[in-house]
Amino acid sequence: MPLGIKYRVKNGDGSISTVRTISIGVDGGEVVIPTVLKGRVVSDEEAIQHYERTGANFGTFATPEEATAFAEELHNRHARELEREGRSSDFAPKGIEGERITSSYRTPERNRAVGGVANSYHTRKGSDGRALARDSVPPPGMSMARYAEILRQQNPHLEVINEGDHVHMEPR
Ligand SMILES: [Zn+2]
Repeated sequence: MPLGIKYRVKNGDGSISTVRTISIGVDGGEVVIPTVLKGRVVSDEEAIQHYERTGANFGTFATPEEATAFAEELHNRHARELEREGRSSDFAPKGIEGERITSSYRTPERNRAVGGVANSYHTRKGSDGRALARDSVPPPGMSMARYAEILRQQNPHLEVINEGDHVHMEPR
């Protein structure tokens, strides 16, 4: 049986990334094995069967604690790679209660129709299929300026632009 050490990588934008491992006790220690096979998250049972059939693993460790530490490092490395590639895990906008999102992804045609700049972040998607820009308006009663200020504080990693009738956010 797996010892319950699972890795589900949650990106900042809420999407789930494809590094997930479990570790299982075997002769000689604790072996860390993948539970994502050919891009598909499989059950622990399938993962173990795959391991038994192929022997594919990330390494064997003396203790469950060491296996966990290794899995954490694997996760962190993967997250850093995503970050370097400027994937959408970088975008991860943080909004506020009561706001309304008015636009996110637009097809190039739609983008032209609304007067968006060519190659706008609104026409681009991250690796998880989500738009790399969003427009939103504040909760009733809050000024656009105040709203933009809050979004700026909450999203120091993003470009936050007060467009007058909405606030636009995109990667820096
Ligand atoms: Zn916009």
